[in-house]
Amino acid sequence: MNHSAIAALHPSEKTAQNYINGAWCTPTTDTYLDIINPATTTALGKVPLSSGAEVDRAAQAASVAFAAWRRTPATERVQYLFKLKALLEDQFEDLAQTITLECGKTLAESKGELRRAIENVEVACGIPMMMQGYNSEDIARGIDEHMIRQPLGVVAIITPFNFPGMIPFWFLPYAIACGNTCIVKPSERVPLTLQKVFCLLHQIDLPKGVVNLVNGAKTAVDALLDHPAIRAVSFVGSSAIAQYVYSRAAANGKRSQCQGGAKNPVIVLPDADMVMTTRIMADSAFGCAGQRCLAASIAITVGTAKEPFTAAIADAAAARTVGYGLDPTIQMGPVITAQSKTRIEGMIHHATTEGATVLVDGRHPTISGYEQGYFVRPTILQNVVPTGSIAKTEIFGPVLSLIHVDSIDDAIALVNQSQYGNMASLFTTSGGAARQFRYEAEAGNIGINIGVAAPMAFFPFSGWKASFFGDLHGQGAHAIEFFTQTKVIVERWHGWARQF
Ligand code: NAD
Repeated sequence: MNHSAIAALHPSEKTAQNYINGAWCTPTTDTYLDIINPATTTALGKVPLSSGAEVDRAAQAASVAFAAWRRTPATERVQYLFKLKALLEDQFEDLAQTITLECGKTLAESKGELRRAIENVEVACGIPMMMQGYNSEDIARGIDEHMIRQPLGVVAIITPFNFPGMIPFWFLPYAIACGNTCIVKPSERVPLTLQKVFCLLHQIDLPKGVVNLVNGAKTAVDALLDHPAIRAVSFVGSSAIAQYVYSRAAANGKRSQCQGGAKNPVIVLPDADMVMTTRIMADSAFGCAGQRCLAASIAITVGTAKEPFTAAIADAAAARTVGYGLDPTIQMGPVITAQSKTRIEGMIHHATTEGATVLVDGRHPTISGYEQGYFVRPTILQNVVPTGSIAKTEIFGPVLSLIHVDSIDDAIALVNQSQYGNMASLFTTSGGAARQFRYEAEAGNIGINIGVAAPMAFFPFSGWKASFFGDLHGQGAHAIEFFTQTKVIVERWHGWARQF
């Protein structure tokens, strides 16, 4: 289907709509925000900030739909996902462009995140087997015991701005494949990608109410957290909000998995392949303009790695091409808002007040043709104080801090002092060092000679510490555990047992 055909399915390209009970609808609100292209600063449309009443309508529709959806065999439920996968492939280019338009990242990065989204759909297609329980025959004479998995009911999915195409797919395919119905609340800064995704969901003819979309911000989130029909909440965003969502969901008796922020340290040992390390580190720190929860944000050089790495990463930072994400020659787009740009530039200045020096300064760049855009060029901070606020605070921009230590033990101690534990990586050619690191590092996603250790869809996305609130992570086997409840049946049939 081409772009205009998709647009025809949707009532307005300019104003984001909600999708409730199988139909697009205009929410009852007077509050709208502009959706801004962060490179050009032109308005792409408006997004409504839905009220609790909209959430209630979606929750009621999802509750009604659950009764029949949970009785639909898993083998039938996945047929919808096969159709969705085909449509996502068909609309790949258009969806990727939409991500770039509203989020700013390069088209190649948008395609990368979309590929990850589709991988989750593919994995969820295995639900008929992944949802199986287990049993034991003759736990006592003539008595058998079974564990089966059943869906929870209505689940809510609340997502951040930085991966509008991928993060909803960490949850939605598993939730519905397991027999749940769901309500998705995307980031109010990037609602357009899901408008298109929901056009595709509409096309695959899911029963009404199985998937619902409510646009909005805090009011909608609070209504989701308080709604009695909603059994579980999947959240991704900053740590402060993740912790808030986790607490409020728990207080209301809901299961939740809340992925938070990060400050990812990467250790560079003297024996690392410096050419490869620098290339990968530059991609990790500056890819997606550093707005990635798995971005490298601190490089810890050990011993003689300091000089060669510092020189090479400074060159790589300065050489990175920055501009409009739709331009295939550029390597890095803008940050999401004017406020983000101001905050990031302010943090770079603050670093200098803590004793750091700005080795490569990306503040206030002029990007030809996009002078008003929210751009910050790659920035390298040197001599960052390990105990200072810059070493501890998530910047969420293209800023890499350099810290130097004398030993791998000191480097791992620095990694482990972080309040976060989303990702930690090590660059080395030593197997022993790699083993020590993966054994001792206090982070849930570990990279060895990898800059962005993003788990594939069939592994859980395993943030630790303040990067995650909950027990069961997104993706993989954890997703099946999260979106189902176990039921154990102990069974005796008297007539049959008497024969023995
Ligand atoms: P955010 O916390 O501002 O927003 C996330 C979601 O929460 C949005 O849907 C937003 O509408 C909602 N929200 C915002 N403020 C709220 C409030 N006061 N009450 C209730 N709901 C509220 O995050 P963001 O700026 O959109 O995304 C960036 C953050 O997300 C970074 O911290 C990044 O590290 C994190 N992130 C984490 C992961 C991960 O897997 N751990 C992945 C991507 C992004």
